Amino acid sequence: RTVYVNGDYLPEEEAKVSVFDRGFLFADGVYEVTSVLGGKLIDFPGHARRLARSLGELDMKMPVPEDDLLEIHRELVRANGIGDGLVYLQVTRGAADRDFAYPEHPVQTMVLFTQAKPGLADAPMARSGMKVISIEDQRWGRRDIKTVQLLYPSMGKMMAKAAGCDDAWMVEDGHVTEGTSNNAYIVKDGAIVTRQLGTEILHGITRAAVLRFAREAQMKVEERPFTIAEAQQAEEAFITSASAFVMPVVEIDGEKVGTGTPGPVARRLREIYIEESRRAGV
Ligand code: PLP
Repeated sequence: RTVYVNGDYLPEEEAKVSVFDRGFLFADGVYEVTSVLGGKLIDFPGHARRLARSLGELDMKMPVPEDDLLEIHRELVRANGIGDGLVYLQVTRGAADRDFAYPEHPVQTMVLFTQAKPGLADAPMARSGMKVISIEDQRWGRRDIKTVQLLYPSMGKMMAKAAGCDDAWMVEDGHVTEGTSNNAYIVKDGAIVTRQLGTEILHGITRAAVLRFAREAQMKVEERPFTIAEAQQAEEAFITSASAFVMPVVEIDGEKVGTGTPGPVARRLREIYIEESRRAGV
């Protein structure tokens, strides 16, 4: 595989990052994942905008202009022959002598690589639906910044696996924040319910697109918190993320949601999202 490190395209074996990199030592960095369908990047401008925001919130800067970033993404998709898959991008504050205080003028590190995911749009889980458990949300308080501190979500995913499930929904003060790597939704009285934006959740790029499509299709949308009990009694539940698109949730903490099969709202939104992404990809 060809990867990108600080201006160079290299075979992955030759790519190097310093052991003093603050991304490695302090999780001092942010990332983005942009999906590729049929060789086209989905919602690249949305991901670039969120990257700029994450960096700004952490007193870092965009390493290259958005146009150059798009070119780097495209070059990697081309070089690695990605039809369906994703491009992972990470920017850290770079290498510095280990110190909690960071340098005033750091030399940031930017790394990109691709992952091939053939048949990304035809995931079997879209037909079976996923099972989730609920766990307490023990992450830090700025989840709106897409940092590489992913240890708690990783542990959550392992807890889900240990319980024979696919993912965990995290709960704070009795209300669902989000999934380990996705935003969470229910359908209640025909309305799509998802937590409002704030520092408690990541502002999903897929979330923004899906809510826009839902409103355009005259579906009702309510942005408010909901509980696990409310979700278990809902007509449907689902999640969204750049790599899962829209994925139905059919079981929460062992309780079937609705009929226990993917519901019509989730299925319809998934179709619209994939269709629009194929059309509007760059
Ligand atoms: N919430 C969390 C915690 C995530 O890690 C992600 C994506 O990785 C999302 C939500 C969904 O965001 P997006 O739709 O931009 O992929």
